[in-house]
Amino acid sequence: MSLRDDLYKEVILDHYENPRNYGVLNPYSIHERGVNPLCGDELELYLLMKEDIVENIMFSGKGCSISQSSGSMMTELVKGKNKGDALSIMAKFKKAILEDSNENFSEDEADLESLLGVKKYPVRVKCAVLAWNTLEQALKEREL
Ligand code: ZN
Repeated sequence: MSLRDDLYKEVILDHYENPRNYGVLNPYSIHERGVNPLCGDELELYLLMKEDIVENIMFSGKGCSISQSSGSMMTELVKGKNKGDALSIMAKFKKAILEDSNENFSEDEADLESLLGVKKYPVRVKCAVLAWNTLEQALKEREL
């Protein structure tokens, strides 16, 4: 394993063991549940919206370290952002992991790069995108 792989593993483990924004948000304006049956990952997402801004966001769930650390990273990145910015980070991450495209991640988004190592494993990719797909569902429901 290279030094970079070790570093990435550490980033993932840190988010897995000390998840950011973990728990149930009350009050909340949107609740969305995501599951990845291939791996048994579950994620509950709570968002408090103020107009189109994600004023607060929390998640809880169970599953593998990839799915849960991805949830932690996602909440950290979209908290305080407006819907458009949140969705564009999502699009960038999904493009990088699903299409193997070379995306530029800002310093804030750097933790996401640690998850890109799973792109060779289609089953693990579903773990990594679960939190983002759940976020997308939550924000789209908001439009109804
Ligand atoms: Zn998983």
